[in-house]
Amino acid sequence: MSVTEQAPAGPPTAPPASPDGAAQEAILRRQSLRESAARTYARALPIVPVRARGMTIEGADGRRYLDCLSGAGTLALGHNHPVVLEAIRKVLDSEAPLQVLDLATPVKDAFITELFATLPGELADRARVQFCGPAGTDAVEAALKLVRTATGRDGLLAFTGAYHGMTAGALEASAGARDVRVTRLPYPQDYRCPFGVGGERGAELAARWTQSLLDDPKSGMPAPAGMILEPVQGEGGVNPAPDRWLRRMRKLTADRSIPLIADEVQTGVGRTGAFWAVEHSGIVPDVLVLSKAIGGSLPLAVVVYRDDLDVWEPGAHAGTFRGNQLAMAAGAATLAYVRENGLAERAGLIGARMLGQLQGLAATYPCVGDVRGRGLMIGVELVDPLREPACHDDAVPGQPPAAPALAAAVQRECLRRGLIVELGGRHSSVVRLLPPLTLTDEQAAAVLDRLADAVASAARDHHG
Ligand code: PMP
Repeated sequence: MSVTEQAPAGPPTAPPASPDGAAQEAILRRQSLRESAARTYARALPIVPVRARGMTIEGADGRRYLDCLSGAGTLALGHNHPVVLEAIRKVLDSEAPLQVLDLATPVKDAFITELFATLPGELADRARVQFCGPAGTDAVEAALKLVRTATGRDGLLAFTGAYHGMTAGALEASAGARDVRVTRLPYPQDYRCPFGVGGERGAELAARWTQSLLDDPKSGMPAPAGMILEPVQGEGGVNPAPDRWLRRMRKLTADRSIPLIADEVQTGVGRTGAFWAVEHSGIVPDVLVLSKAIGGSLPLAVVVYRDDLDVWEPGAHAGTFRGNQLAMAAGAATLAYVRENGLAERAGLIGARMLGQLQGLAATYPCVGDVRGRGLMIGVELVDPLREPACHDDAVPGQPPAAPALAAAVQRECLRRGLIVELGGRHSSVVRLLPPLTLTDEQAAAVLDRLADAVASAARDHHG
C-alpha cells in the first residue's frame, strides 16, 4: 500500500530548493483571500506546484504527487517533456517573433504539416485549418459560427451530458445550459441509460430518438446548422460513445446535409487509444475541434474542416492571440512524438489493462457503481448502495444513486496518498483519471494502488 509521503519513482530527482510547508500555507491563504470565488481545481487540490517532470508534481512543501489530472487532459507527454522543452527553447534561441497574429511563419507551417499528417486521410486531403486560440472554447465558437455561416441555418444538435466550454455559444451547446436554438438529444450511457436498458440497445434507442426528431415535421426543432458531439464525454463523466452509435450519427447527419462537429478537445492526440477518437468508429467528421494536447502544454486551439465549408468572410473569426509560436512548436513536437512512438496504441493497451484491474475494485466495493472509459480516459463512478434512488434521480430503476460526497472523499484520500485525480459527471461523483500517455507500468500500478487504498478508506469512513 502506498504511503502519503512516499515519493513516486522517477524524476524529478533534484531536492526541492526549500521544502517549506509554511510558505505553501501562506500562498494558499493569500489565494483564498485574493482569487475569485469561481476558482475550481484549486479548491479540491490545495497544493502549490513548484516543480514538475513527467507524471510527477512537487509542491512547495516538498511533497510529490502522481498527476492524473494532467492539466485537465492537456499534457499528453506529462510535464516538461524533453522534446517539448527542446522545441520551445529552439524557438526562443532562434529570435523568431513570439507574437505574429495570424501571419505565416516556419513554425506555424511545420505545425500544420504535422497536424495534417495525423488526420484521417479523407479529411486531410481537403482540410482547412483556422487558428482560434487560445482555448478550446474559442475553437468551439469558431466551429459553430463556421457551420452556421455555411448552412445559413441557426439551430444546433447537442447532447445530454455534453461539455464544450464556457464562452456563450459553447456554453449553450453544453448540457446544463438552455438555449432555444439548441435541441438536446440523448447521449448513450451504459450505466445510467435514459431508457433503462444500457448497452447496444440503449444506444439504438438514443439513435432512434434523434432520427425521429430529425424526420418529424412537428418535432419543433429549429433547422440544424450542425451536430456537435464528444466521441467520449469527459466532463460529463467519462462516457464513451459506442462506435455503432457514432456511425449512426454520421449517417443521419450526412444524409440530411447537416455538418457533424467532433469536439476532440479532450479526446484528441492519442488519449483514447487512437490518435483521434473518431478513428475507433471510422467516421470522418466535417469539422474537428482541437485544443488541449495539441499545444504541448501551452494554449492553442484550432478547427479543422472540409474545404467546402470554408465560405466565411475574411475576419469572420478574428482574435489577437492566434499565433502562439511557442505553443505551435511545443504542439508540433508533441504530435510528432505521439505519432512516432505509437503512444495512442500504448494508451489503448495500458488503459484497457487499468480498466480491467479497476473492475476488481467494483467487484469488491458496492460503492463503486461503475468503471468505464477508453484508453487513458478512465472514470470510476461512486454510488450510495444503501440509499434508495429518489424518483428524480437519473438512475435506472434499482440502480444506486450517485454519491458526490463519497467521490469528494475519495479525491481527498487520493491526494493524501500522493495522487491527483479529477471529479466529473452529472453529480461530480465520477473519479476521473487522465494520466499522461507516457505513463509507465510501474506508475500505472502505483496509481491503482493508491486509488484502491483511497476508496477503501473513504468507503470505511462513509459507511462506518
Ligand atoms: N470541449 C471539451 C470536450 C472539453 O473537455 C473542454 C474542456 N474541458 C472544452 C471543450 C473547453 O476547453 P477550454 O477549457 O480550453 O476552453
